[in-house]
Amino acid sequence: FLSHSLQAKMSRQVQARRLEGIDKNIWVEFVKLATTYSKVNLGQGFPDFPAPEFLTEAFRRALGGGSHMLHQYTRAFGHPPLVKVLAQFFEKLLGRDLDPMTNVMVTVGAYQALFCCFQALVDEGDEVIIIEPFFDCYEPMVKMAGGTPVFVPLRPNPPKDGKRMSSADWQLDPAELASKFSERTKAIVLNSPNNPLGKVFSRGELGLIAELCVKHDVLCISDEVYEWLVYDGRQHIRIASLQGMWDRTVTIGSAGKTFSVTGWKVGWVVGPDRLLQHLRTVHQNSVYHCATIAQEAVAQGFQRELMLYGKPESYFVQLPKELQQKRDWLVQSLDGVGMKPIIPEGTYFLVADISPFKSDVPDVPNSDEPYDYRFAKWMVKNKGLAAIPLSAFYSEAHKNNYTNFIRFCFAKEEATLKAANDILQKWKQEKAS
Ligand code: PMP
Repeated sequence: FLSHSLQAKMSRQVQARRLEGIDKNIWVEFVKLATTYSKVNLGQGFPDFPAPEFLTEAFRRALGGGSHMLHQYTRAFGHPPLVKVLAQFFEKLLGRDLDPMTNVMVTVGAYQALFCCFQALVDEGDEVIIIEPFFDCYEPMVKMAGGTPVFVPLRPNPPKDGKRMSSADWQLDPAELASKFSERTKAIVLNSPNNPLGKVFSRGELGLIAELCVKHDVLCISDEVYEWLVYDGRQHIRIASLQGMWDRTVTIGSAGKTFSVTGWKVGWVVGPDRLLQHLRTVHQNSVYHCATIAQEAVAQGFQRELMLYGKPESYFVQLPKELQQKRDWLVQSLDGVGMKPIIPEGTYFLVADISPFKSDVPDVPNSDEPYDYRFAKWMVKNKGLAAIPLSAFYSEAHKNNYTNFIRFCFAKEEATLKAANDILQKWKQEKAS
């Protein structure tokens, strides 16, 4: 028996080499800290307010009264009513005809859309340009596909007139960006509006990226999950609509962000068949499809939005209005305690400068943990307020340059934001006394 069990013990490395160096994940640690300590959680990005009634109602209808076939498998690349309405919707947005069967694919959230893109389009040795700060999964996903991420930062240019900083003040250096493109570059990942900064890329900035993509024959993976969350009358521009870009761009969206239902995990990609055909290969050999009922309900949500397009009753008009108000409340609260918020032009995230708080947070001797990590941990344990350190959105090589900021999510009920304000007010009084 003993010798059997000795023989049975494995000594070889069990995990595939592609997992090396990507096993750490910031969310595991910070979600746990938030669950354990936070009274108010402005960390992870999800709304704590209800999804729109028309959408939950559509889900209930699909579940109960609709066809019993909605409980069965649907088409692998997207439930037909959903791909049809997405095609109609994006025809309007992109100004071109779309075939629902070949130009649209439904995925398990935008997350799986990203995974399909990297697996289908990136080869061993290919370089993929990622703009920092970035939604953190891009880097491990590129690596898992065998690619090499090449990072280029948005550089903060503080406004000279003493005005508040905005996400628009974080910009690409055109020469630096151009220097990252080479014959090894296969793709660039663009995320506008950008998580975590809330930057909405201008037409000029997108034009520069497009020009470089065309010049170097590079693909663009455009993560536009926050496409409707744009403030102060700014306009979200889709890079796929710029000259020369349709053929080389996949545009990614998410019902989670669009309809405030992150738990439904319905996402999509829109793009040319010559790219999507390869995404379909990855998709059919991995997840096959996501829940039929959720797809049916999202399809009905889009049908409603198509009818109300641009009208005041449209959710895509109402949601950003409400979120802009929430953004302004959070800005006020953070200002109150002396955290300098960088005003986001889009998304439901806000990055704030915590450099004035260095004396509040105890130094940990011999720790190489960056200040923003220490600050975020200290804040959730001592103040009950959860946020995410900004350096988590940077590559290992660059994260030490950006340790004076934390990211808050403001897609929260008024009561949650008021509770955050109470914490900050109390903190301010303690600091003053
Ligand atoms: N891209 C970005 C930029 C995101 O912030 C998120 C969610 N936080 C996703 C993709 C993933 O979206 P989904 O929940 O639809 O998978």
